[in-house]
Parts: sequence; C-alpha cells; structure tokens
Amino acid sequence: MKDLIFVFIFLILFSSRIENALPSRLYVWRVGQGQWITWVKEQNCLHFDMGGESAPTRFIQKLCRDKKNSLFLSHADLDHIRFIPWGKKNLANLCLHELPRETLNEKKRRLITSLPLCTFNSELVEDISITYFKKKNANDLSRVFLLKSSNRYTLIPGDSTTSAEHYWSHKISNLNITLLILGHHGSRYSTGDNLLAKLSYLRQTICSARKKRYGHPHADTAQRLIRRGLPLIATELWGNLSYEM
Ligand SMILES: [Zn+2]
Repeated sequence: MKDLIFVFIFLILFSSRIENALPSRLYVWRVGQGQWITWVKEQNCLHFDMGGESAPTRFIQKLCRDKKNSLFLSHADLDHIRFIPWGKKNLANLCLHELPRETLNEKKRRLITSLPLCTFNSELVEDISITYFKKKNANDLSRVFLLKSSNRYTLIPGDSTTSAEHYWSHKISNLNITLLILGHHGSRYSTGDNLLAKLSYLRQTICSARKKRYGHPHADTAQRLIRRGLPLIATELWGNLSYEM
C-alpha cells in the first residue's frame, strides 16, 4: 500500500515532466515545390508554413486532427500557404501565430486573416527575423524560425535571402544548430557562405522543392554545402522526412 501511495505521489509530481519528456518528431513533408513542416508533440502540432503542390494530407490529419494546431507563417507566397483552406477544415483549433510581414493582396489577406490568432506562445519557437530590415520583396521579409528541442536547434529560414541572412545570422552564432531547412528551397540566393560560417554544429540540410519547377536546389548552393562536407537531403528524392526532436 505504501508503495502504491508513493507511485501515485510520484506520478502527480512528475506527470508534467514525463509529458514533456515524451519524444516529439519533426516532419518535413514532401510537398513538391513549397514548404510544410510539422512539429508533432504530445498535445500540439506546430506547422511551419502550409504550402506546396501536393501533400500527404491524410497522414497529417491522422497525426494532428485531435491536437491543438498552430501555424507559423514565414511569408505569404502561394507555395507556403496553399493548404491553409484544407487546414481550416481538417485540423482542430488551427490558429495563426503572427501575420506575414509583407503587404498582402486582398485575396491572401482574406485567407490568412480568416484564421484566428493564437492566444498562446510556444517558448520552444523563436522568430529571429530582423524587423528593421527594409526591403521590398516578400522573401527578404520572410520570417526565420529557430526551434529548440532537447539539446539542439533546428533552423527554418523560410524563403529568407542571403542579403537578409546578413542581418539575422549573428543571432545564431555558436548555437548548437544541427538541422537546417535550406532557405528558399535551396535557391542560389539563400544559404550564403556568411550564414554557413555561423553554423559550425550543422550535421544535415534539407531541400523542400521540386527540381523541375525552379531548379532547386541550385548547383551553387549544393557546391557551398559540399565544400563544407554537409549532406543535403531532398524531399523530392527521399519523400517525407521525420526526426526525433
Ligand atoms: Zn517558397
């Protein structure tokens, strides 16, 4: 009986820790040209963009439909937002963390603002984009997300450009970032040497694109990675990817 009481007290005291300790996974979906990444946790699904040409919606629905779903948007290009109508319909409580930073046309504004804004924050996701960076196009203004898991970081730069990288990359110097989703699908105008020089713990890079559409990943970007001995995995070739966080 004493033992049982002890187990009960232990469970009450440590149940929240046990929950936090349950492994969560990061999925980089094969969506053709575009981006949709989901961090699946015990109670939540955090989506980083919701775009692409096609997506394994049934599988995503199975994983996330009964959880709290929230969306972090890098920017509002179609290849990052196309599946928002699907998400609204099929994922419970889908909310948006923040509006994109660029000026939206009426159609995109209507679509994006039809999502309620989230009333909670995730301390495991940091938006490290620089607000004072003044450029005109949506890619320059793309939000950049840093995900903190047990003892490492994942970097999701959206479609951020090399010139934008110059402004935010100092924020990640010396961080233990082991996984990088290539900015702008591996375009030659992202993932510059200046950024790579700050990623000394990097072990793997991922390209979410369809080569025939815009030639991503570009050969110049691939060369920059090869020079540093960094492996590049393309969802187009490897399919949906998943990592323990
Ligand atoms: Zn894009």
